[in-house]
Amino acid sequence: MTLLQLHHVQRTYQPNSTHPVQALKDISFDVQLGEYIAIMGESGAGKSTLLNIIATLEKASGGEVILNKQNLSHFTADEAARFRREHLAFVFQHFNLLDSLSNRDNIYLPLVLASQPLKLMQERIVPLIQSLHIEKIIDRYPNDISGGQQQRIAIARALITHPNLILADEPTGALDSNTSQEILALFDHINKKGQTILMVTHSAAAASHAKRTIFIKDGRIYHELYRGNDSYSA
Ligand code: ADP
Ligand code: ADP
Repeated sequence: MTLLQLHHVQRTYQPNSTHPVQALKDISFDVQLGEYIAIMGESGAGKSTLLNIIATLEKASGGEVILNKQNLSHFTADEAARFRREHLAFVFQHFNLLDSLSNRDNIYLPLVLASQPLKLMQERIVPLIQSLHIEKIIDRYPNDISGGQQQRIAIARALITHPNLILADEPTGALDSNTSQEILALFDHINKKGQTILMVTHSAAAASHAKRTIFIKDGRIYHELYRGNDSYSA
């Protein structure tokens, strides 16, 4: 089943100025439910712009983005915010946890903001604590745990909403290589269980975990790799 479709997406910043910036020129690709995709490209290639558009944080200047059968281009700001809460979750390079809340309350937060009952949060956190190995840190605070542990908490916070799509922006960018491997193993695990993941990364090691890598340059897709059983094939 197709989860996400981008159809000739363009994004121009400062369109009326003397120097408009065409951050995205013509981007088309589909994402099937359950895929694990890496997006790579040099700084300035348009990766953040692309992620922001899929995240409904920014609108395309042209083309169409259809996520879960809904056309994002037609949303008002309120509709976008609701859609984001219900369908998407984010994992960031710097974890973005709230230091004033316990790890458990950080994980609950998206459901608190969506006015969901405590009972639902308590039910949903149980399998997450187990599969993400966060039993020992769940009632501590973000300041009090390592970067890799913070990213585990952030992944739990993403998964607790049962999102259709996880958008990860350099999720291993602030971690050492051993810890990165642990986090990437977690992404492998949650993808195997059916979670769709779209990850922007500079790391070839991280991208090698995805089954498909899309390379963008100067606002266009210039290369795509599919990883077979053991090796890459174009
Ligand atoms: P990286 O260049 O990110 O360290 P690799 O050296 O493993 O990644 O390259 C993986 C493949 O992607 C190579 O065939 C490389 O030529 C190609 N590639 C080309 N341009 C880029 C780019 N801007 N970012 C990542 N990979 C690229
Ligand atoms: P990446 O994430 O691959 O580094 P970005 O999507 O951040 O690339 O940026 C793509 C291009 O759009 C760059 O030339 C960048 O300078 C430009 N850009 C990004 N955001 C803005 C903005 N708000 N206003 C003007 N130009 C922007």
